[in-house]
Amino acid sequence: MEEFRTVRGFHDILGEDLRKFRRVTQTVREVLRRFNFEEVILPVVEYAELFQRSIGDFTDIVQKEMFVFPDRKGRLLALRPEGTASAVRAYLQNRLYTLRPYVKLFYEGPMFRYERPQAGRYRQFHQIGAEVFGSEDPLVDAEVIKIVHLILKELGIPAVVEINSLGCKVCRPVYREALSKFLESVAGHLCDVCMERKDKNPLRVLDCKVTTCQEAVKEAPRMLDYLCEDCKKHHHSVKRYLEVMEVPYRENPHLVRGLDYYTRTVFEAVSETLNITIIAGGRYDYLVEELGGPPTPAVGFAVGVERLSMLVSVQEEEEPLYFVIPFGQVEEYALMVADFLRSQGKRVEISYKKGSLKKQLELANKFKARYAVIVGEDEKNSSEVSIKDLATGEQRRVKLEALKDYHR
Ligand code: ATP
Ligand code: MG
Repeated sequence: MEEFRTVRGFHDILGEDLRKFRRVTQTVREVLRRFNFEEVILPVVEYAELFQRSIGDFTDIVQKEMFVFPDRKGRLLALRPEGTASAVRAYLQNRLYTLRPYVKLFYEGPMFRYERPQAGRYRQFHQIGAEVFGSEDPLVDAEVIKIVHLILKELGIPAVVEINSLGCKVCRPVYREALSKFLESVAGHLCDVCMERKDKNPLRVLDCKVTTCQEAVKEAPRMLDYLCEDCKKHHHSVKRYLEVMEVPYRENPHLVRGLDYYTRTVFEAVSETLNITIIAGGRYDYLVEELGGPPTPAVGFAVGVERLSMLVSVQEEEEPLYFVIPFGQVEEYALMVADFLRSQGKRVEISYKKGSLKKQLELANKFKARYAVIVGEDEKNSSEVSIKDLATGEQRRVKLEALKDYHR
């Protein structure tokens, strides 16, 4: 029979890739811990409408990337394409706003998008995201960007953090109008997708990857020049705080992000080696209200775990492995030895294969064991083991008890 394969765009994570994956998630968690974020485990399936209403109807995600399916009653469900909408839903459903004036949450898990698979782009991928609900202080924007900076620093990933401001209810419509007008004037140079975007979601034209579009928008008006006084002040403070915290950043007036809910600060960390976005986020001051909650300004970001994993290095497992070899009819004693070692917290394999000592030692090497713990009749009768250091070749016979603090 033909072998089964993973579904296109879905992948197994194992071996060295998994060690990288874990290094990334543990580092992110550790940084978030220092900023006192609290974890929430969110469901993978939500009502599709949650994402349509939050991410926006004219975004790539909602138009073509969502895995949507009906349940038995015909309600449309979706595999979540991102975590922010779910986090907002959870914040409201659990009435977290009654606890404290502001709340800091993070989540980790798989996200699903029906995209064309390529390097660093999957249909199931993983994010760790963090959200702060309830404060419009620019200090929060700056702290969140500081977190991004710390994650990159601790993982040793060279990247620049790009920032921009998308304004608010007051100033963005004015800018949008000006941008639409401009796009109309360069319409002849825009790609087909951008021709549609120019009316429905003109800001998205600014970050189209097609070269002719990029050329065409070079002279486009910039949101930064249209910010109202409040947004200008906010943006200025964010930058000031970043300087105080020694977070390097680059202003990118064309940075818009692909989701509709962003306001004011948006940011992306772009890898210097691969030139891809690895972490992204921003402020979304109206989303909570749009999803039926009280007016609640918010900021957040999401880390692409696979993308960061591509850029980190890991070392081989360092914790020594003890490989117990029963030699002769001594299985029971061998089990006791393994049990004792494990009770001391050591990492232990007991050989599941029979064979000559030579074969057993080969097997120990296949497992990359540090010590072979050989037990035969003799050893059993004197409550001892023969332990061979596979790194040095040295072999000694010692009391079982002496294994307690054998490895130094
Ligand atoms: P891109 O422009 O690369 O499509 P995006 O704007 O769609 O990214 P976000 O929705 O902001 O990405 O998600 C945040 C992060 O999640 C991205 O910076 C990236 O690291 C990661 N990410 C997004 N989509 C994928 C994917 N299909 N496969 C792997 N990682 C992804
Ligand atoms: Mg995308």
